[in-house]
Amino acid sequence: MKPVISLKDLEEMVRSGRDLGTLPSDALLTPSARDFLRDREGYGTHRTGSESSRSAAPAKPVNSKSSKAEIEALFKSAAVEEYKRQICDIGRRLWQRAYVDGNGGNIAVRVGEDIALCTPTLVSKGFMQPDDMCLVDLEGNQLCSGNGKKRTSEILMHLQIMKRQARAVATVHCHPPYSTGFAVAGVEPPTCMIPEYEVFSSVALAPYRTPGTPEMGKLVADLVDKHNTILMANHGVVAWSHNNLEDAYFKMEILEAYCRTVLVSAQLGKPPNTMTPTQLQDLLKIKQSLGIPDPRHGLKECELCDNNDWRPGVMCGVKDGQAANGSSAPAGDAEAEALVQAITDQIFSRPR
Ligand SMILES: [Zn+2]
Repeated sequence: MKPVISLKDLEEMVRSGRDLGTLPSDALLTPSARDFLRDREGYGTHRTGSESSRSAAPAKPVNSKSSKAEIEALFKSAAVEEYKRQICDIGRRLWQRAYVDGNGGNIAVRVGEDIALCTPTLVSKGFMQPDDMCLVDLEGNQLCSGNGKKRTSEILMHLQIMKRQARAVATVHCHPPYSTGFAVAGVEPPTCMIPEYEVFSSVALAPYRTPGTPEMGKLVADLVDKHNTILMANHGVVAWSHNNLEDAYFKMEILEAYCRTVLVSAQLGKPPNTMTPTQLQDLLKIKQSLGIPDPRHGLKECELCDNNDWRPGVMCGVKDGQAANGSSAPAGDAEAEALVQAITDQIFSRPR
């Protein structure tokens, strides 16, 4: 009987460091397993998104156990050179948009089953050169560098994401001010307000730990099964993509624009309008079809718009076809009034 290979089987293979090229040739793939392989097409042949660059890669997959010469050849291959240029480009965009400060932020991309290319430590992301990039194994051991620079100290977090989330092809970390403001306040951005955010982002908040420590990486990795963008309390944001580097960077643009817009809207004197659960459900269907995780996939509509952590009082409607604009305010006001009245009564009823 032909073996049936599911997405879970493939993810397990990647987690345990097994080569996907060893799959039996007569194996039957489930649709999600086929998508997964298509997404990862180019591992060992170093996907860059263009056919021409794929053909420039070495035929034999290279991993951290390959010989020094093979690893160095990979590091200097046309495909990896292209990744180095892409990282410089993304770094420049992060810096130009003020998503990074000083030497902050870091970027990584898988270039083999257990090998990643990443940014160096102590270099501004706006002014990196391709030769600054470092090659590491998934434990963070440096395998190569172009000009002797050391890998970023925060690489462990990126690698822990890649180890835990087999679909993570690329990761970007930075400190965009509006998003980081939410992370400092310990507030997850409210939902049900802007379609792009709902479709492309799945945000969670990780507690603070010292940046660069394995403990910080673990707290982030614990969330990447269902989330692609993690706010790190009192620190910044890290995002992963199952597509490519630019897509991981786009998660930053989307989150930062969203946090900024939500804050502007919160200052306009009335509770922001929110979409209905039915409208959100439509967006979640698109999200699922794009292979983007979200803990709300499969939830009932009435459970979809939970903004309990959002302090300015944005609440999402629970009835179909009814936006929640302002609907929570009367109840909240009535409760508060009753409380004030009870306290006032108590004060005035005391003997003087
Ligand atoms: Zn940082």
